[in-house]
Amino acid sequence: MSVTTAWTERYAGALMNTFGPPKLVLVRGEGAHVWDADGREYVDLLGGIAVNALGHAHPRLVAAVTAQLQTLGHISNFFASEPQIELAERLLSLLGTDGHVFFTNSGAEANEAAFKLTRRTGRTKVVVTEGGFHGRTMGALALTSKLAYREPFEPLPGDVVFVPYGDVAALEAAVDDATAAVLVEPVQGEAGVVVPPADYLPAAQRIAHDHGALLWLDEIQTGVGRTGTWFAHQNPALVDGTVVPDVVTLAKGLAGGIPIGACIATGGAGKLFDPGNHGTTFGGNPVAAAAALAVLDVVGDGLLEHTAAVGARLRAGLAADDRVTEVRGEGLLIGLDLVEPKSAEVVAAAQDAGYIVNAPTPERIRLAPPLVLTESDADAFVAAWPALLDAAGVGEDH
Ligand SMILES: *Cc1c(COP(=O)(O)O)cnc(C)c1O
Repeated sequence: MSVTTAWTERYAGALMNTFGPPKLVLVRGEGAHVWDADGREYVDLLGGIAVNALGHAHPRLVAAVTAQLQTLGHISNFFASEPQIELAERLLSLLGTDGHVFFTNSGAEANEAAFKLTRRTGRTKVVVTEGGFHGRTMGALALTSKLAYREPFEPLPGDVVFVPYGDVAALEAAVDDATAAVLVEPVQGEAGVVVPPADYLPAAQRIAHDHGALLWLDEIQTGVGRTGTWFAHQNPALVDGTVVPDVVTLAKGLAGGIPIGACIATGGAGKLFDPGNHGTTFGGNPVAAAAALAVLDVVGDGLLEHTAAVGARLRAGLAADDRVTEVRGEGLLIGLDLVEPKSAEVVAAAQDAGYIVNAPTPERIRLAPPLVLTESDADAFVAAWPALLDAAGVGEDH
């Protein structure tokens, strides 16, 4: 029995079966590479689901976390820490507006905070999009469209209206003076990297503001450099015009793998919570904040340009095979459609060949590798790609 099989059996005996059997048992990582319990090496093109922005074991992230933990690890929100304050200021300056930040420990919690914040407008209606994903806690789930995720847990918090994604007319029709907020992802990540028309976010902003509603952007997957700009809503390749959201939620890549989330509200929206309205024990703790500051330092040190360039190279290379019908995304958030629904087979074939990729739907593959992915790793994957599609049988039935 392989070491992996032994651990997988122990996993099944001790962990709740929420995720199905694990695809691998991983023991070590370095840059964009990981090793499994049997010593096999993989190029990690998923990055912990768009989380490991600096890859694995990045020396600057390790040093920042180690130094902070040796100095002051956790204090609760009865007290403040310098890294937390600095991080809030840095995020606001990257957004280019004034505002206020609430730190959490995950994406779902950032969205829970934002959802509660929208209630403080005195309105309850939230307009969200079909295909959108906002997390698995009860509030975040109420804003998430996938029936398989929602139905076992109904009733969920109400007054949530779903509209087709990318459809300006549908937003016009749904948003009214009872609407507290319009919630959209700049690019839908879990749906398989779905990119709306470039006029969508500016139109969403205009429509929301015409009705006194907040524009809330969920940048949990797209933020912190993932698309080659600090935030996807600032990416001229994705958005035609200037968008200044009232609320932005972040998590995933923000601290490179140390759990953190942020609910950022700009202008007056940043003052909607009164003392006692919301809270968290761990949120914004010094270690997570120091980790995020290290990530922002490294990403700001040339990684945005690198992300845009390597992403363009990957997209062009993968699109060259005619069994790929569409490639979407910007930077290192990439979705591609296969000519037939064999994405699970492609994931398995890729893993056999030493690459970790993800299948968000039966016909879609998603790549969200570390932003430090090298050109040579990207090129190696592109070179391997046609053989992976062969091994998965893609194109055979077509
Ligand atoms: C992953 C994700 C979430 C949920 O984040 P968790 O940290 O898993 O709770 C919410 N919104 C978007 C867009 C995401 O990609």
